[in-house]
Amino acid sequence: MKASKPKASSSTTTKHNYLNLIGGHWQPAAGGATFKNRNPADTSDLVGTFPASTVKDVDAAVRAAREAFKTWRLTPAPKRAEILYRTGTLLAERKEEYARLMTREMGKVLDETRGDVQEAIDTAFYMAGEGRRMFGQTTPSELQSKFAMSVRMPVGVIGMIAPWNFPMAIPSWKLFPALVCGNACVIKPAEDTPLSTLNLVQTLMDAGLPPGVVNIVFGFGPEAGAPLVEHPGVDAVSFTGSSEVGRMVGQTAAGLFKPCSLEMGGKNAMIVMDDADLNLAVEGALWGAFGTTGQRCTATSRILLHKKIAGKFTRELVKAAEKLRVGNGLNDGVQMGPQVNQQQVETSERYIKIAREDGATLETGGKRLTGKAHANGYFFAPTIFSGVKSKMRIAQEEVFGPVVALLEFKSFEEAVEIANGISYGLSTSIYTRDVNRAYRAMRDLEAGITYVNAPTIGAEVHLPFGGVRKTGNGHREGGTTALDFYTTWKAVYVDYSERLQRAQIDTGE
Ligand code: NAD
Repeated sequence: MKASKPKASSSTTTKHNYLNLIGGHWQPAAGGATFKNRNPADTSDLVGTFPASTVKDVDAAVRAAREAFKTWRLTPAPKRAEILYRTGTLLAERKEEYARLMTREMGKVLDETRGDVQEAIDTAFYMAGEGRRMFGQTTPSELQSKFAMSVRMPVGVIGMIAPWNFPMAIPSWKLFPALVCGNACVIKPAEDTPLSTLNLVQTLMDAGLPPGVVNIVFGFGPEAGAPLVEHPGVDAVSFTGSSEVGRMVGQTAAGLFKPCSLEMGGKNAMIVMDDADLNLAVEGALWGAFGTTGQRCTATSRILLHKKIAGKFTRELVKAAEKLRVGNGLNDGVQMGPQVNQQQVETSERYIKIAREDGATLETGGKRLTGKAHANGYFFAPTIFSGVKSKMRIAQEEVFGPVVALLEFKSFEEAVEIANGISYGLSTSIYTRDVNRAYRAMRDLEAGITYVNAPTIGAEVHLPFGGVRKTGNGHREGGTTALDFYTTWKAVYVDYSERLQRAQIDTGE
């Protein structure tokens, strides 16, 4: 298959009616149904209308991917990588445009959506480099005149299901390593953020990706996501989202013997020791808890405070949270955007009630913002609970909103016990000036990520990303670890002795 020349961004839309991409053709859902994508900061702003796909569309997309895989797998990896490199360059040119559209469709502030596009750019360049690495291994054979090596092979067609909170970055973590490894892909973006994933795929096409190598089907989980997991033409599934849906996806994939990567929720703890730089810790807590309106899988949702500094820290954090400017992320000076939809606001409201009933103290926030500036959006006040005990639901369950729980401890050992005493295991952090304690935290915190003197958010694309327990099922995205999911190892033996040599039986002399 010959890659077409890069060209300017081509149209995928008529008057914001966006279409699925199947086999290189933009097309409506077979059943003709659509859904609307609205701005969560101003629901009167219609971002676009997208196809509500069903099993028929998924089937067409998987068939297109299977066909394209035949030639894509034979395209040399350095050539595949060149397309990713061009994609990175084009994304850099379009960064501002795509960031603005992303803020419109999911609400986070412009600085953060620029960061989301940047993450896709970084991933493109990193994975482009893999086109000339993707190292295998050689090893001596136990037999004479025999060569032994292991090589990475593409898996085939990958079904990808993404959440809405990093609508370009997360799809790029899935698509770019999958592509450089020689796989074809079908992606179903989250229903709240279809446009950013479309922009990413459009950029890949503009960079010269052959038709059918990536296909997008828009739509809802049960109608479009589930058939993708079940489809016999899909060889592996990469899912990011909630642990509840991840469990269903994983169970289905297991029954079909499909490799399945699950990246799911978190209940991430920041530990603040009595020797910490308190100003730095408060600043980190504010960013970790309320960045992306608390809607990050790595959000700082529990802050564990040494009892000696708990009072001061709490006062400072409350003061800083109350000063945060909440509003439309496109406006200058706004620091926190809306929640993504009505359902997320209701989840926050539900947990406010639960935390109060369980005996936690509401320090600030705890309610939807409904003033004039907030009337048309899903705005929620930055919320802090103190006096939280580790068994309370607010300290155990993911809220995925701007709600943080403060807990107190008396010793480092107790802090680690509280931090580890949850069913998730994604990100952790410790603020301390004691280097020995920092290293003990790195060793003892049970999570996929540990930060020292930084909040629980801020992953970089060339390191492994993922977690333990209910957060993940053992795979990692990011860095070279991503290649482990998107390739399958093949052991190759070449016997040049010109005689039959039997492993474990002949001596090899
Ligand atoms: P979600 O689980 O509701 O949805 C995720 C995706 O799954 C969406 O595309 C949705 O349409 C699809 N889906 C829903 N039902 C399905 C089904 N039955 N079969 C197949 N697909 C289905 O999650 P969300 O609300 O979009 O995202 C928030 C969650 O994602 C949080 O729990 C957050 O922690 C998690 N998350 C994890 C990571 C990570 O890397 N660990 C990153 C971002 C978000």
